Amino acid sequence: MYRIIDTHCHIDMEEFNKDRDELIKQSKAGGVDAILVPAVEPDDFEREFELTQAYDIVYQMVGIHPHEAKKATQDAFDKAIEYLSKNKCVGVGEIGLDYYYEHSPREIQKRVFDSFLDIAIENDMPVSIHCREAEEDLIDIIKSKRGLRGVIHCFSGNDKLLKAGLDMGLYFGIGGILTFKKSTLKDVVKYIPLEFIVFETDAPYLAPVPKRGKRNEPLYIRFVIEKLSEILKKDQQEIADIAYNNALSVFRLNL
Ligand SMILES: [Zn+2]
Repeated sequence: MYRIIDTHCHIDMEEFNKDRDELIKQSKAGGVDAILVPAVEPDDFEREFELTQAYDIVYQMVGIHPHEAKKATQDAFDKAIEYLSKNKCVGVGEIGLDYYYEHSPREIQKRVFDSFLDIAIENDMPVSIHCREAEEDLIDIIKSKRGLRGVIHCFSGNDKLLKAGLDMGLYFGIGGILTFKKSTLKDVVKYIPLEFIVFETDAPYLAPVPKRGKRNEPLYIRFVIEKLSEILKKDQQEIADIAYNNALSVFRLNL
């Protein structure tokens, strides 16, 4: 059995309201040792904190998703910093740029992302970075951030982002996309050293084949491990172990 760390999972979302308790217990029984829950907006911080108190395997990150960047008041930044001092708050996320939906104006997204990167560095915390159709601007912002560490979450195979991330020693969050038929990630993933790969679901979204279209959940990471093993022609257990240790190290988890 693999030991699994889901480094990006929205288990607090309403899609899990009916069976969250059961699902977390099942995940734990199935080998999931940690579920890292990123925030989408400031209202999430307290709810996610409560989950970390209720379940030993649940950890939280604080940040504001680019969609919600317009909600980033000074008060929200202060609140995020306050949560970062809590025991089971292990990172800043999710933060980034999303020009595909552009729910918040680009200039605001950039400013908020930049501020959260500074907060992460000042507090010596890793980040979980979201990037959709905004690679150039995003790379411009991160490359000036000395001391930045963390994960490019939900990496989908962009080669510029791959190069920038590798240059900066960032990790790559690999999930369901790897199993999608049309995904180019299958070819690109070979260029990421295994030492820089962590697994994630982004649940409830992006369930891997053969569960595609269904609600995603932490144990489905096994399908991603199987796919990566097939692509790299490496042992599944070895891949799972290395990614597990990577997650421990980037998020400084004490399991
Ligand atoms: Zn997410």
